[in-house]
Formats: sequence, structure tokens, C-alpha cells
Amino acid sequence: MADITKAKRIVVKVGTSTLTYENGKTNIRRMSKLVSVLADLANSGKEIVLVTSGAIGVGVGKLGLGSKPSDTSGKQAAATVGQCELMFMYDKLFSEYGYVVGQLLVTKSDFEDGQRRENLSNAFEKLFEYGAIPIVNENDSVAVEEIVYGDNDTLSATVASLVNADLLVIFTDIDGLYDSDPRENPDAKLIPVVEKIDDSILALAGGAGSKRGTGGMVTKVHAAQITSKAGINAVVMNGQAPQHIYKLLEGKPQGTLFKAK
Ligand code: GLU
Repeated sequence: MADITKAKRIVVKVGTSTLTYENGKTNIRRMSKLVSVLADLANSGKEIVLVTSGAIGVGVGKLGLGSKPSDTSGKQAAATVGQCELMFMYDKLFSEYGYVVGQLLVTKSDFEDGQRRENLSNAFEKLFEYGAIPIVNENDSVAVEEIVYGDNDTLSATVASLVNADLLVIFTDIDGLYDSDPRENPDAKLIPVVEKIDDSILALAGGAGSKRGTGGMVTKVHAAQITSKAGINAVVMNGQAPQHIYKLLEGKPQGTLFKAK
């Protein structure tokens, strides 16, 4: 298994519930903290890819819709608005640290088609070469299958495999995977390491996430199945304190580590 302290290429995924308030407005403090940590990691020589959710959630806030639309075209329209706002924020915040960002909006089919997959991979490699930070989201205004079935956890694992990342970090609104639902059981214990993802682990992950996001824990475990098979470690940890990634990279366990095969 790859040594986390030696990870150079790191894919970081951040969810809607971490990036926004309940009303859909961007959580500026969290975004600023996240960007300062990622820029600092880039300064230390790491290659960072950011997979960001929040387009729909932020669009809902910006359009003043009150809650996430239930129809697909409503979600798509909200995503077009929110994606601009997200990129505006990332561009502004990363540039404070001298970093240029590049936006990649992708759909599942881009990874499945050989030629498009290769084009995508080449674009990532060029961005690394240029020292820019690739920022990825699903192309929500056209990718109907993403909004209806998909999630950015799976997308982040697919991106991690494509770029041959050394590590995937999924920032979410909970500390990691617990042995029972911590929202219902105050004695629930965090599981620090998952050696193998089997039915019992999948059963623990059942249940939905927040109203603003899409996935919940189950999609994170599915993501970890993809990375594990690809020989990549994945860590699910709390996005409220992104600076804890420093400890992780120093070899101090954080959140839940899903070990690479
Ligand atoms: N791509 C969606 C968005 O940006 C989010 C999907 C997810 O929450 O996993 O709103």
C-alpha cells in the first residue's frame, strides 16, 4: 500500500454541505480556509486536483429559490448559475496565493469514451505542468444522469484513477464512517481504517446525506471501492477543518482511511 506521507498527487473532493450554508449562500470562511490549505500544499510541492460540488446548492441560494428544485431542468438551471459563482470564488481565493485555476466540467461519458478520456487526461497533465489547479465538477446542465443517479464522490474517485493520484481525500460534514449512525446513536464510534469494503461496511454506510448535497456516506464508500481497486488510498474526513489534512500527510490518522488494495 502506498505511503500517505509520500503522496504527491492528491485529489480533494468537497461537498455542498461543507461549502454552503443552509440557505445556499457560500460559506466564505470555509472556502477561504480550504483554498489556503490547498494552495499551501501546492507550495510544498503537491499536485492538487479539486473536485467541487455546490453548483446546484449555490445556484439555489443565488436565485433565491429557497430549496433545491425537484425537477431536472430546475436543477440544471440552478447549476449553471451556481457553477459561475463557485468558480468566481475559487479563482479569486486561489489567486490571492498566486495560483491559477482551470475549470473542467465533465460527464460520465467523457471517462468512458477512449478518445475523450485521453484528451481529458492530457488536459490534466498540462495543467499540472503549468502549475495550475484543476477544478472539476460534473457538467450538471447537460449530464442528466449525474443529477438523477450520480454524485461527485464517484466522480472524484474516477478522476483520482484517471490522473493516477496517490491519494483521494473526501471532505464531508461528518468525521468519517461510524459503526452506527452518529446522528441517532451518541455512542457511535468512528472507524479509523477499512481494510476491505464488504457488505457489512456498505450496510454501515446506508442512509442519505444532507438536503443540499447528493451523496451521503454510501456514495463515499462506493468511491472508495473504485480507488481501492485502482491502488489508491481514500480518506473521508471532516471538511470543517481542512487543515487536518496536514496531520494526515504527516502520518497521523484522520477520519476513515479506506485502504488501497
Ligand atoms: N455536481 C453537483 C453540484 O455541483 C453535486 C453532486 C454532489 O453533491 O455529489 O451541485
